[in-house]
Formats: sequence, C-alpha cells, structure tokens
Amino acid sequence: AREDITYWGAGPALMPTDVLQKAAAALINYNDTGLGIAEHSHRSQHATDIINEAKADLASYLSVPTDKYEILFMQAGGSGEFSAVVYNLVGAWVQKKKAAGASDSDLQKAVLSLKCDYIVTGGWSEKSYKEAGRLLGEEHANLVADSRKSSSTGKFGSITPESDWSLTSEAAYVYYCDNETVDGVEFPAFPESLKPKADGSGPIVVADMSSNILSRPIPVENYGIIFFGAQKNFGIAGITVAIVRKDLIPQPPPALMRKLGLPIPPIMLQYDSIAKNNSLYNTLSIFDVYIAGQVLKKLLSTYPNKVAGQAEVSDKKAGIIYSALEAHPDVYKIVPAQNVRSRMNICFRVTKGADVDAAEKAFLKESTALGLTGLKGHRSVGGIRASAYNSVPLAGAEKLAAFINDFAKS
Ligand code: PMP
Repeated sequence: AREDITYWGAGPALMPTDVLQKAAAALINYNDTGLGIAEHSHRSQHATDIINEAKADLASYLSVPTDKYEILFMQAGGSGEFSAVVYNLVGAWVQKKKAAGASDSDLQKAVLSLKCDYIVTGGWSEKSYKEAGRLLGEEHANLVADSRKSSSTGKFGSITPESDWSLTSEAAYVYYCDNETVDGVEFPAFPESLKPKADGSGPIVVADMSSNILSRPIPVENYGIIFFGAQKNFGIAGITVAIVRKDLIPQPPPALMRKLGLPIPPIMLQYDSIAKNNSLYNTLSIFDVYIAGQVLKKLLSTYPNKVAGQAEVSDKKAGIIYSALEAHPDVYKIVPAQNVRSRMNICFRVTKGADVDAAEKAFLKESTALGLTGLKGHRSVGGIRASAYNSVPLAGAEKLAAFINDFAKS
C-alpha cells in the first residue's frame, strides 16, 4: 500500500498524498461545478484564477519580485527550455544592441563573435550546451568549463574551480544547472564570478533548477532566467515554469533575425507570446497547474518562513543520509566531491566486497523489500540514487539511513 512505501525516484517523484486526493476529487467535480478541472475551458475564469493564484503563491514562496519578472507556465519540459533559452536570449541580445543604435551591418559583424556560455557540471547541462550548438552552430556555444576535464576521475562529480572558468566577456548569457539530477552535483551557492557588480551590471545568468526548485532560497535578482519542470518538487509532469526578467522578453522582428542568419523561436517557445497571454497562448493543462498550486499552498501553510523552512528540512534529510554513508567508508562510496554534494539527489556506490554489481543488486533488493523504492541510479551512470525531494518525509530519510547502516553491518 501507498503508506508502506517511501519512494526515492528522481522524477516523476513522490507527491503529497493529500494533494493527490484533493486533485482526484477536483478531476471529477471542481468546486461543485459538476464538471472536472480538466474539462473546464482553459479560457474560463476558473482556469485564470488557478493560474493567477499559482503565480502569486510561487512569487510569495520564492520571493520573486513580480514587477521585474514574469512567471510563465510553459510546455515541452526542462528539455524544451534548453531550446527556449537559446532562441529567446539570442533574440534579446540582438534587441538590446538594436535599441542601443546598432545598424544592421553592425549587427552582422557582432553575430560573428556571438557566444553563449555554458558551465557543464553533469549530464543535463551538457545536453543543454549541445542544444545551443545545434541551434546556433557549435562555434557560438562556449564551453566555460567541463567538470570531467578538471577531475582526476574524468567523470562528473565536481565543479571546476571558478578561477579556471573561461567566461566570454560579451556573452549573450551564461548558463548552468543548479542541481545535476543524474550526477548528484549541486552548486553550493550562487557562483561568485557571475554576481552582479556594484553598478548593477553583470552577465545574464540562466539556471536550470528542475531538480532543486522550492528547496532553498534563491537570489532571484541575480538571474535572467530560472526554469524548471514541475515533476520533481513542484507537481506532476506536463508543465514547465520559466521565471524571466521582463526586459529580456521582447524579440526583434523575425525578418531581422533571418537577415542575421539567427533562429527565431517557435511561437510556443517564445516567452513573449506566452507572457502576453498569461500562459494561455494555447490549451494549457490547467490540471497540472492546479496540482502545482496545491503543492505550493501546502508548502506555504507548513512553513511560515516559506522556502527557508523547507531548506532546513532538506538539509536535515540529506545530512542524515550522507552521515549514514560516511559512517561506512568500506561499504559505500559517495559519488560527488564533498563540497558539491546534492541535497536532492544523493548518489553513491555500494563497494562492499569485490563485486560492486552484486552488492548494489542486493542493496536494491533488500531496500525494496522494506518499502524503500526507486533507489536505482540513472541508467547512464549506474549505482544508487536517493532523491530526497520535498515530498519525501524526514521519517523516510531516517528509515533509509537506518537501512544503510543495517546493510553495511549485515
Ligand atoms: N534538467 C534537469 C536538471 C533534469 O533533471 C531534467 C529531467 N530529469 C531535465 C532538465 C529534463 O526535463 P524534462 O524531462 O522535463 O524535459
């Protein structure tokens, strides 16, 4: 039964049971209208209210200054944003130069040295970096750092020291993934070298927060774009959120972009068309927004100090699990370096005995029998991964830590 299981899957992830119960009822009969939430028109007042409330609650929970930022509900997932970021920010880069008086021939020259900066710390930022190269041409995607190259293991699991980053001074933007879901690497804080200067100038920073959103406070004003899929800490798969600084939204005329040989965003990935229509350019899954909205309401009522309250619990859960692993260095090997360990995706190997594969199989079999499920690592890297997202209770982390101890001793 559901009560017997603590699910550690990396996404889709565990949801609060009471939210699902409420959503199940709303799917049949929303607010006594006799019609379910997924049946009502996306143009109805119900839909607009659900969107506006979710936006307001998200802004409140994360302290998003809504005079400067738009909150957009998009489709196509985190992967869709890999593309959306490229299209929209290259457009914004042209738009800004044009507004500053650049002629078409000035722009044509500038395009030759157009760079989008990517800090690669794991599989997801790598995918995003590759998407930029695919859409613009590889010469325009600049690899600021690749953690594999600065690591003695040749694998992901660290963050290249900032002193070794090769940032482009006039980059259209700088991109990183705040938490690498597959590799268990999380930025401990906002990178020093990307911070805005005293006069407010600085790079346009983009962060993928798909797997750690709503789990710690964010210095929102340091960012141009923050995006995340819903299916880990925010709700169920189907909607993606982009928090976008308003001045980055307007796009140059398509004809100018064509003349410059630059791509223009498909309408569904263009922030401007989504923003102008309050996320309802086309039919959006209001059910998904409703669920995310209920998750937010639950978080807001649980934590009077909002995301800071959740951050305390997240730190505690991760702390308990990492401590249990560290207590048995002969049995477990934590994958990422200590200073970049993810609080959300705890990745480790079971090195007990000569046969790692057999040890991990035994670990998974025994944990599953105890109701600790979804612990298998990503297919690309293997090992064990415990995803301690917001819906995983502290008691679940305690249960996993106890099992980690017992398994080591057995
Ligand atoms: N970014 C990160 C950090 C992710 O973990 C994922 C998916 N697990 C994605 C992007 C891709 O998200 P989607 O499947 O919604 O495209």
